[in-house]
Amino acid sequence: MALNDPAQRNQVIILQDGYSRQEIGDDTAMRANCTCTLVRCRDGTNVLVDTMTAWDGEHLRSLLGEHGLGVDDINVVVCSHGHSDHVGCNYLFQKARMHLVGACASHGDLYMSHFGSGKPDEELALDSNGEVVVIRSPGHTLSCVSVLVNNSQLGGRVGITGDLFERREDIDDESIWKNAGSENEKLQREERSKMAHCCDFIVPGHGPVFSVNALMRKKLKQYAVSSA
Ligand SMILES: [Zn+2]
Repeated sequence: MALNDPAQRNQVIILQDGYSRQEIGDDTAMRANCTCTLVRCRDGTNVLVDTMTAWDGEHLRSLLGEHGLGVDDINVVVCSHGHSDHVGCNYLFQKARMHLVGACASHGDLYMSHFGSGKPDEELALDSNGEVVVIRSPGHTLSCVSVLVNNSQLGGRVGITGDLFERREDIDDESIWKNAGSENEKLQREERSKMAHCCDFIVPGHGPVFSVNALMRKKLKQYAVSSA
């Protein structure tokens, strides 16, 4: 088997690019929905990250259908955090062995300590190869998590970060992620820098996937250091 055989990679599939923008004609309102990502692990585990709003059920079913999957084929649901545009369709995935909302793991009415040490560096592997793992990435909310996909078909490591990054442009314009809300700006800056240094690609909470370059890493580190 060839080492770069795509079948031997974990597949990161963006089902829908997220967005967030000011509502036209109403300065007090926003339009937003999350980036929704499917990870098809090479051991057969299917992970869905962030499930959009509660109004997106039929839309999400059809997005999965385009990849030959039904809602019962999802093994694990991960929501980067508990805001309504990231958890809305969790109810569809009744066959999943776990729903992880931030650091809170559950199945039905059973709440599990799978991610419960509280240590900042704890990791939870979702696949049998230990290549797709959940880590804590606090800032936007204090219980935010991200999914790291090693050995991805995009080439390298992908961080699916929820609102740790709002979109690519927030690296140059900090007001974008700050205005989206941050429970701890200093921590979020540190986590953003850490994430950029360990990932080749980032799937942000409300924008398309982007590749991380040296200049971005340098900027994010400077922000983190100067706010320390
Ligand atoms: Zn969000």
